[in-house]
Amino acid sequence: MPSIVLIDGKVIPKLGFGVFQVPESATEAAVMSALEVGYRSIDTAAAYSNETEVGTAVRKSGLPRDEVYLTTKLWNADQGYDSTLRAFDASMERLGLDYLDLYLIHWPVAAADRYLDTFRAFQALKSQGRVGSIGVSNFKVEHLERVIGETGETPVLNQIELHPNLVQAQLRAFHAEHGIATEAWSPLGQGTVLKDPVIARIAQEAERTPAQVVIRWHIQLGNIVIPKSVTPSRIQENFDVFSFELTPDQMREITALDSGTRTGPHPDTFTVGLDV
Ligand code: NAD
Repeated sequence: MPSIVLIDGKVIPKLGFGVFQVPESATEAAVMSALEVGYRSIDTAAAYSNETEVGTAVRKSGLPRDEVYLTTKLWNADQGYDSTLRAFDASMERLGLDYLDLYLIHWPVAAADRYLDTFRAFQALKSQGRVGSIGVSNFKVEHLERVIGETGETPVLNQIELHPNLVQAQLRAFHAEHGIATEAWSPLGQGTVLKDPVIARIAQEAERTPAQVVIRWHIQLGNIVIPKSVTPSRIQENFDVFSFELTPDQMREITALDSGTRTGPHPDTFTVGLDV
């Protein structure tokens, strides 16, 4: 599995498995299926209500803990220094783990102005050795600049909505300048981009499926990518993206599908869980 070295020296797999909207009852089977196929990175969040089942699947897989990369996220309602420390303990209890690879602030909720204190709590967790790496999600350039300026530490990664209809050129350029890894959420646009005729044509040319083409486009752009599926055949299909390459022209054509269209909420207005 190809990987990326983060600015703190830790290593993250380029391809992971996301479990947003996977019901509790289906999570253990989906994660087991992903681990059997070869995925070694799982992305969950306190807000997904399936941390317990993710932890169970990882333990039942029998894989050594250090062979599975686990990410979870701090929910908006828990932002703030002390509440972050408490929320971390609760997540670890649900996961049944004593060490987390990557902890992310799920959303900035800038209007509540608590993400700096939250990140300072992340720094404490990292210095205690309970978390390997600390990063953010859905942060814009202004939020990243503030974290870097005020805490003296650069988040290792920003997990953002990113797919062929939302290419995020400006944010990716800022990340590149600061050594922040870009992780793409809803990398398939929740399935919407798979119907695009350009993707369909390139899939035919490459003798691959539309999902494989889009995941491959992410990998070649340098993104970390975490597609979701609960269907074992699709979980397998989405993993099989390292034995072919898109041409520079195919890459350009897919990137040109950018229309600035989101499938999820906008970071400026998403404040669920926090009174602002
Ligand atoms: P996605 O872009 O991965 O799309 C998933 C959907 O695409 C599936 O439900 C299915 O309908 C379809 N699909 C998947 N594989 C397919 C295949 N091979 N062929 C045809 N259709 C296929 O969407 P997502 O789940 O929103 O995003 C992936 C992960 O990103 C999440 O599970 C979660 O871990 C993360 N995420 C993070 C945030 C955040 O705010 N940080 C928000 C949303 C998602």
